[in-house]
Amino acid sequence: MAQKTISFVLPVYNEEKVLKEFYGVLSSTTKPLDGRYGLEFLFINDGSRDGTIQILKQLAAKDQRIKIIEFARNFGHQLAITAGIDHAKGDAVIVMDTDLQDPPKTALDLIREWEQGNEVVYAVRATRKDGFWKRLTAGMFYKIMAKLSDYPIPENAGDFRLFDRRAADVMKRYREVHRYMRGISAHIGFKQKAVPFDRDSRRAGETHYPFRKMLGLSMDAVFSFSTAPLRFMTKFGLFVAGVSVLGIIYAVVVRIFFPVAAVPGWSFIVVAILFVGGIQFIMLGILGEYIGRIFAESKGRPLYIISSTHGVEQDR
Ligand code: UDP
Ligand code: MG
Repeated sequence: MAQKTISFVLPVYNEEKVLKEFYGVLSSTTKPLDGRYGLEFLFINDGSRDGTIQILKQLAAKDQRIKIIEFARNFGHQLAITAGIDHAKGDAVIVMDTDLQDPPKTALDLIREWEQGNEVVYAVRATRKDGFWKRLTAGMFYKIMAKLSDYPIPENAGDFRLFDRRAADVMKRYREVHRYMRGISAHIGFKQKAVPFDRDSRRAGETHYPFRKMLGLSMDAVFSFSTAPLRFMTKFGLFVAGVSVLGIIYAVVVRIFFPVAAVPGWSFIVVAILFVGGIQFIMLGILGEYIGRIFAESKGRPLYIISSTHGVEQDR
C-alpha cells in the first residue's frame, strides 16, 4: 500500500515575527511521523503586507514539503482555511494557526485519534491564555451559539482540527460565502472526536481578530447557522400584539365605566410609538442580515482569488 500523507493547512497573515519559529517547532514536532507518513505543509498567504511571503519562499527553497498558495488580497482566516482544504492532498488534513497558539504537539494527538478511526478530530481549549476581554467575549459567544444553533456546535473548539480525506471532500462541497468553518465541520457529521488541549498565548505579533472581526464571525455563526432570530421576531410580534389587545380592552372599559378618567395623556402614546418603532427597526435589521446573505450568495462570486502558487496544482 502506498504511504499515506498528512496535509497541514496553515493560514498566514502578517506573521513575519513568528513564522520561522512556527516552522521550526512544526517540523521538529512532526519528526516522529517521518517515514510513517508523507507530510505536506500547505501555507496560505492571505494577502500579507509584511515580509511573510519572503520568509515562506526561503523556507520552501529548503523544504520540499512546503507548498504555498498566495491570495490576491486579504480574504480572511475562514477563506484561507477553505482554500487550504480545497487544495490539500493528504489522507488527513489538519488545520492550525501559524502563531503557535495551536501547539503542534497537539496535532500528534489529533493524528492518534484519526488512526483510531475518527474522521473529524477537533481540539477543544481546556484552558486558554488570552486576555480577560477575549476570554469573556469568546465564552459568551460559545454560550449564545449553543443556545441559538439549530444543531450542536461544540463549545470552545476553534478551527484547529483534523479531517479525514472523506470528511475533507465533504467540506469542499460547502460553498457558502459567509463561512463559519466550525459550524460546517459540525454539520457534516461523520465520526467526530474531541481532544482537549491547552491553548498557548500568541508567541509574537498581534491578534488579527479584534472585537470588530470577532463580532463579524459571530454574526456569520448566528445568521448562517440558525433561523432562531427569525422565529424570535414572530414570537415578539405576537407578544406585542397581545399587549396591545390588553390595551384596547383597558381603553374600552375605562371609556364605558369611568368616562371622567379617560384620555390617559399623550406621553404613553409617544413612548409606545417609539418603542414599537425601535423594535421594528431591529427586526428590519435582522431581516437585513438574512437578505444580505441571500444577496451575497446570489452573486455567485468566487470565494477567493489565488494570485500564485508554489508546488500546488490549481484546478479551481
Ligand atoms: N489569519 C489569516 N487571515 C486573516 C487573519 C488571520 O489567515 O485575515 C491567520 C493568522 O495568521 C493565524 C490565524 O489565522 O494563523 C488565526 O489568527 P489570529 O491568531 O490573529 O486569531 P486569534 O488566535 O487571536 O483568534
Ligand atoms: Mg492566534
